[in-house]
Order: sequence, then structure tokens, then C-alpha cells
Amino acid sequence: MQVPAPFEYERATSVEHAIGLLERLGSSARLVAGGHSLLPMMKLRLANFEYLVDINDLRDELGYIRIEPHEIRIGALTRHRELLESDALAAAFPIFRDAEKVIADPVVRNWGTLGGSLCQADPSEDLSAVCTTLDGSCVIRGSGGERVVPMTEFHRGPYETAVGDDEILTEIRFPVRPGGGSAFEKVERRAGDWAVVSAGAAVWLDGDTGGTVADARVGLAAVGPNTTALPAVTAALAGREPSEELYDEAGRIAARDCSPDTDMRGSEEYKRHLAGELTTRALRRSVERARQGRG
Ligand SMILES: Cc1cc2nc3c(=O)[nH]c(=O)nc-3n(C[C@H](O)[C@H](O)[C@H](O)COP(=O)(O)OP(=O)(O)OC[C@H]3O[C@@H](n4cnc5c(N)ncnc54)[C@H](O)[C@@H]3O)c2cc1C
Repeated sequence: MQVPAPFEYERATSVEHAIGLLERLGSSARLVAGGHSLLPMMKLRLANFEYLVDINDLRDELGYIRIEPHEIRIGALTRHRELLESDALAAAFPIFRDAEKVIADPVVRNWGTLGGSLCQADPSEDLSAVCTTLDGSCVIRGSGGERVVPMTEFHRGPYETAVGDDEILTEIRFPVRPGGGSAFEKVERRAGDWAVVSAGAAVWLDGDTGGTVADARVGLAAVGPNTTALPAVTAALAGREPSEELYDEAGRIAARDCSPDTDMRGSEEYKRHLAGELTTRALRRSVERARQGRG
């Protein structure tokens, strides 16, 4: 199929308007942001909705990157291209620019959004791994008000999230802590393709101890039903001096704790190998950046 089934289309004029439409139309309606995930699924008849509510006119309310001393807030309608090009974001969290350089192509990046990426809940979505790594929190708004859901609870399974049929993801928040560095690594079969495996890492070094790991997080994509946070890596690194042996140890944990399937992108064994190797590399680069004071 190359054309979707017929649907009604409405452009929301505000977040409140979008929520009102979703409440009225129920599960037969879906929001459309960049449309780069939803429309292909509708064309392939993998998804059928009677109504699409277009939120692209809500840039004032939902399209922003706000850098504050202790928190970074990014609106759900912020596009891949804006995440790629923001120098302020790259200074605080270079993992975003690393990831955006290897997500899709310019056409997709010009329209695709952070909110759409997270809400699609594709297990291979690179930005979900980034937000998991950075301990992001998702702000979800409905007619009853706002609630904040941590990334670790946002995805409920492949293509399922904590966002209800009559709710909208408005913002993702990230804590900013001193001594941090972050990086993203990905193996893809060809430029712009989905990940065979990708890995994000973030490390915060302890200023008082001269550089032991105060905290570290790793997030993997394409090796489980959703992007995978690895608490065992966090536990293994806490309080330790960064070293090649430590990065290798973390890589072995990542390879052990992920749950990839064999598919057309590679065997389970190959993906476990990649999860370990990419974790090792991402952690090494995160520590280098933390030591250089480069976010
Ligand atoms: C050719 C191609 C290559 C790609 N390569 C990659 C890649 O390498 N890595 C990668 O990670 N991704 C890749 N993608 C996916 C791309 O990043 C996502 O499709 C896109 O960014 C999703 O965002 P969107 O705004 O287009 O979402 P849409 O398609 O508009 O929406 C996706 C889903 O999210 C919902 N939604 C959107 N916004 C909200 C919101 N604010 N609140 C609640 N629900 C919402 C929609 O209702 C829909 O269910 C690729 C896509 C294409 C087409």
C-alpha cells in the first residue's frame, strides 16, 4: 500500500485545543508532528486512524531548547535539525549532537521531532536511548493538568508509552550536574539507517576525589523491547577511578544485560558484542569530555 486509508485532518491552534480534540475524538485520533513515523505506518496500513490532529502550528508552545543552570528543558516539537545545530545543547550534552549526526537524513531531520521520536517508542529510536542515558523526565499534559514521568517508566513496550489517548507530551527535562561528560556511538548498516545497536553514555566525575566516578548511566537502543537503561553498569562504576579495565567491565555488563533478537540487522550474538563494544567506547569518550569540561 502506498496511500493511507481516508482520514479527517485538523490543525490544532494551541495545546489546549489539541487536548480538547483528542478528548472528543478518542482513540480514533492521533497527533501528527513531523509525520515521519506515523505516515509511513498509515501508508503501509500498519496503523489506521480516522482523525489526525496536526500540532505543527504549536511551535511557540512546544518548540524550544531552554538551558538553565540546573536543568535543560526541550519542547516536544523541537526538530532533529534544531537538536543537531544547537551549540548550547552540544556544550551541555554533546551526546545529542553525536546522535543527531547519525539519525536518518536531512529531510527526516528537518521535520522529525523529539516528541514524535519518544512517542513512537520504536525499540531502535536513538533519541530514546539519549533521553534514557541523560535521566530525562517527560512532561505529559491532559485536561486534568500535567504529570511528570521518568524515561525509565515512559515506554511501556514496543510502540507503547505512558501518554494516554487524550494526552500530549509537551516537554522533556534533563538535570544538569557538575563534572559531566556524555557521548553516543552507533553501528548502522549504511549512512542514515536505523541502528543495528546504539549506545549512549553519561558520566559525572567527583570534583572532591580528583576524578572518581560520582555517577554514570548507559542507555542502549535496538537490543530489547524498549531502550534499555543499565543499572548494573551504574552500580559497577560508582566511586571507581576511570580506566580501560573499568570501561571493559562496563562493556561486559552491557553485553550480558541487554536482550537482543536475531533479525535482518544481525544475530543476537553480534548485537551483544556491539552493545559491549559501543558501551566501552561511549564511556571512554564521556570521561574524556568530562575531564576537558566539555559536558
Ligand atoms: C527514512 C527514515 C530514517 C530514519 N532513521 C532513523 C534513525 O536512524 N534513528 C532514529 O532514531 N530514528 C530514525 N527515524 C525515525 C525518525 O527519527 C522519527 O520518525 C521521527 O523523528 C518521529 O518524529 P515525528 O515528529 O516525525 O513523529 P510523528 O510521525 O509525527 O509521530 C510519531 C508518533 O508519535 C506521536 N506523537 C508525536 N508527537 C507527539 C506528542 N507531542 N505527544 C504525544 N504523541 C505524539 C504521534 O501521534 C505518532 O503516534 C527515521 C525515519 C525515517 C522516515
